[in-house]
Amino acid sequence: MKGISTLLFAVLMFKLLSAQMGMTPFENTWGEETATYQQAIDFYKQLAETYPEVEIKEYGRSDVGKPMHLVVISGQKIFDPKKAKKEGIPMILINNAIHPGEPCGVDASMMLARNLLEDKKLRPMLDELIIGIIPIYNIGGALNRGCCSRANQEGPLSYGFRGNAGNYDLNRDFIKMDTRNAHAFARIFQTWLPEIFIDTHTTNGADYQATLTLIATRPEKLEKSAAAYQTETLVPALEKYMKKKSSYHMCPYVYSVGNVPDKGIAGFLDLPRYSSGYASLFQTMSFITEAHMLKPFKDRVTATYDFLSGTVEFVSKNPGAVFEAVVKARLEAYNKKSFAVNWKLDQEKQDELMFKGFEYSYETSKVTGKDRLRYHRDKPFEKKIPYFNSFSATTVVEKPNAYILPQTYWEVEEKLKANKVEYFYLDTDTTMEVEVYYLDKVHTQMRSYEGHFYHDSVELRKEFQKIRFYKGDLIIYTNQLHSQYLVHIFEPLAADALFRWNAFDGVLMQKEYFSSYVFEERAEEILARNSELKAAFEKKKAEDESFRESARAQLFYIYTHSVHYEKTHRRYPVFRWQGIGVLPLTMGQTDKN
Ligand SMILES: [Zn+2]
Repeated sequence: MKGISTLLFAVLMFKLLSAQMGMTPFENTWGEETATYQQAIDFYKQLAETYPEVEIKEYGRSDVGKPMHLVVISGQKIFDPKKAKKEGIPMILINNAIHPGEPCGVDASMMLARNLLEDKKLRPMLDELIIGIIPIYNIGGALNRGCCSRANQEGPLSYGFRGNAGNYDLNRDFIKMDTRNAHAFARIFQTWLPEIFIDTHTTNGADYQATLTLIATRPEKLEKSAAAYQTETLVPALEKYMKKKSSYHMCPYVYSVGNVPDKGIAGFLDLPRYSSGYASLFQTMSFITEAHMLKPFKDRVTATYDFLSGTVEFVSKNPGAVFEAVVKARLEAYNKKSFAVNWKLDQEKQDELMFKGFEYSYETSKVTGKDRLRYHRDKPFEKKIPYFNSFSATTVVEKPNAYILPQTYWEVEEKLKANKVEYFYLDTDTTMEVEVYYLDKVHTQMRSYEGHFYHDSVELRKEFQKIRFYKGDLIIYTNQLHSQYLVHIFEPLAADALFRWNAFDGVLMQKEYFSSYVFEERAEEILARNSELKAAFEKKKAEDESFRESARAQLFYIYTHSVHYEKTHRRYPVFRWQGIGVLPLTMGQTDKN
């Protein structure tokens, strides 16, 4: 008897030990609550203590000082990204709670990580890939927890706030990088360079049947191999998985062209300010899951879980193909001479989408007395709707041999560093002939947007000039993995160029002026010496009445065409160098640091 009970005890102990992780806060509350920041971190710490296939790494400080964590899960226990790349092991990076009021991915990822490690049927999948999980990205927002900031959402009972500690929307900050979180993210992303990236959200907007909607990064931003693989293989496979193995319906992100989706929906242009748009600058096939706000939290989390599981299953079955599609695309981007930097929806190209919606009607509002929209959930429909899902490039820019960034822009250098861009420092003061842009027309939004006054349109003029550079200025060659990123941040015509986000606004202001009464005689002299200028001046006077009537405008015209006017006014201060000469350089940031 004693022997048997000892055996029974041993079996029980083994059972306990082989499933060591407990339930998550989501499971313990039957889907009513989402894990807090501390609960999520403690859970993963326990996971890492229990399983040698899990490591937790820290990537600097977040907006509230607490560290930014990355949980790395590798069946083969490969925690060195260089080794992973060498062995061709693909990585899925999952980012959660960028908007902590939309925490479906926080809880889904915790359960997924545990189940993959503890379920014997699932465990072999981990040998084929690496999973990276950012448990909670917007830590400041997650700690600002309450019941009510998302007025239209079905649960959980409490959740974090959209803005970070500095009230920035982190899902607009991947290029301008105002926050510590964005710097930490860049370090994580550039260290691991995932093949697939997933950012988990909950959506606002119309009502319809789908529990989960999906944004795939615009294939127009990916090079051929990755674009084709994402569009023709990966997305259809994930759609099939959701159809067959999930109880929840998934459809493309519902971005209605009219008030309601049955008039048609359009693809979403994920510019580089957004997570998926940033990721695809590096040829990562990237997704944003948007669970539908009006579905119960329990269902949203489970649908997100299913999508993440489907991605893991697909990659574990096709690790070589996923890895190769991205490697090839990165090589294609490396060899590319020019890049599209802005796009617009092509309204001529229209597909059809089988859409599962709800009938709707307008009725008089009891609050406003005006028309209000009401969806009828008891009247579901399934019909074809127009789907505008094609974008065409509006601006294409040829990359220079190198960009030259004067060291005065040290904050920009910090962004380059976090992004592991390779660059060199000039070793001596030198004069070089470079291509320069003049920012002739700049239109600026009048309302503050994400801590900036965004320049929404820019017109440029090009010139070649000899410019004096100084020891320590940055030479950034474009023949590197980051070429597409460099073109997007440094070309002012790019929709999310750093210039658009005010990084170089200093040059927009004129520093020296003149006093009209003193300048009169000088202006007379200038015109007398320059007959071409005089002819142009007279012509403008004859044609332009307001110019003719303004003495100041006329003197200013002569001033700006004279040697007195500063050349640096409106001159974009990042220069394009097309030369191939050998420069005296010292190492800046290279792959080695
Ligand atoms: Zn969101």
